[in-house]
Amino acid sequence: MLKISLPEDVKFIIKVITQAGFEAYAVGGCVRDSILGREPKDWDIATSAAPYQVKALFHRTIDTGIKHGTVTVMMHRTGYEVTTYRVDGEYLDGRHPESVRFVSSLEEDLKRRDFTINAMAYNDSSGLVDLFGGQRDLEQGFIRCVGNAKDRFGEDALRILRAIRFSAQLGYQIHPFTRDAMKSLAPNLKKVSMERIQTEFIKLLLSPHPEYLEQMYELGLTAQFLPEFDAMMETEQNNPHHCYTVGIHTIHVVQGVCEDKVLRLAALFHDIGKPPCRWTGEDHIDHFAGHAQVGTDMTERIMRRMKFDNDTIRQVCCLVLYHDMGNNVNITPEFARYLMHDVGVELYPKLMILKEADVAAQSDYKLEEKRENHSRLRQYYEEALEEGYCIDLKGLAVKGRDLIEAGMKPGMKLGEALEKLLDEVLSHPELNDRDVLAGKLREWGYL
Ligand code: ATP
Ligand code: MG
Repeated sequence: MLKISLPEDVKFIIKVITQAGFEAYAVGGCVRDSILGREPKDWDIATSAAPYQVKALFHRTIDTGIKHGTVTVMMHRTGYEVTTYRVDGEYLDGRHPESVRFVSSLEEDLKRRDFTINAMAYNDSSGLVDLFGGQRDLEQGFIRCVGNAKDRFGEDALRILRAIRFSAQLGYQIHPFTRDAMKSLAPNLKKVSMERIQTEFIKLLLSPHPEYLEQMYELGLTAQFLPEFDAMMETEQNNPHHCYTVGIHTIHVVQGVCEDKVLRLAALFHDIGKPPCRWTGEDHIDHFAGHAQVGTDMTERIMRRMKFDNDTIRQVCCLVLYHDMGNNVNITPEFARYLMHDVGVELYPKLMILKEADVAAQSDYKLEEKRENHSRLRQYYEEALEEGYCIDLKGLAVKGRDLIEAGMKPGMKLGEALEKLLDEVLSHPELNDRDVLAGKLREWGYL
């Protein structure tokens, strides 16, 4: 019999509930991950006890989703979601169930879950409860709906995105019936809230297989919430620097950067401005002048639409804007310092990674020159840090309050003076000295 090693807290919760005369099982993702030998992120418990009965059994509980039957039981500062066996009511809006109905059997609860691999339960006395072939699908690497795929996606279209994200996380194939249903019900995704879409989309993007984006396109999923991606998939680049469509190039870049949210999003969006900027010259070569700026504006619009937070939007837009900056110039230490200033010292290392992945996904044309440029951008960055060169106002040897003490009034003029000084030391880092800078201000007539 398959044995899963439950954490002590989970064993304790199951024991307490069982001794009170109810059933309790670990269920869903934690069972799946345990069978796969992966560390579960969290442990969910399903029980025949009603929420008020669960609450009565434990000292510390939180009414997380009491209407939906979920009580969080706190143990050693960790929360465990304990949910009463339930079935979802009708998904009238295709988004969330209007109501839930508590039921008495584990089987009914497992039936309402999305995929076979997510619909298993376990406790030490009953062992594994696998009613829909979840273990078989884990062995064979299949994502397959519990029951009729069309019905399940019709109830909740978010499951369509969940299918592709689990397949990308696990490297599994989607079962043909499930796949067909995804394709035909894709338009239902229009009814799903952007917040829920974003959560699943990010999980796919940060998975070991972000290249499944191509399948999302083929299945007509991106068309529902990110049509700009479809435009990239459909844009050729007849240009010596490139050997792929914009979309396939983009997928390679996403794969080429590490599993970091800002970087993966920046890789996804870096060339989003290319389709509207494409222009074919008389030489039949495609040009994309201005795509970084256009792409930055598009990225901001798309990310707002997808309900990303402001800080993530800011960082991703900055990387998109500067992703090809310096590709056709001679890189000097001064150029690198200005770029560090514009991008910000914290974000600069991510820009380097993005640039390197971008070039690696282009053709071999001028590849050595591009790499040489990048190694300089890295080298001058490291030098600037080692030497402690001033890159932003924080590093300037003269501060606003020094100028006020020297008689300047707070305001526009003072800000302008500081910016001029910063510009001076970005070009000549050795000038970052109080007396030298004060001399400059007198020379310019500020003091
Ligand atoms: P992860 O490790 O990403 O959290 P998970 O399987 O735990 O994966 P959750 O979104 O936390 O996924 O959901 C917990 C369980 O609830 C799932 O394993 C599945 O059984 C069920 N579930 C979640 N969302 C849905 C849904 N939209 N439709 C049907 N069942 C769902
Ligand atoms: Mg989970």
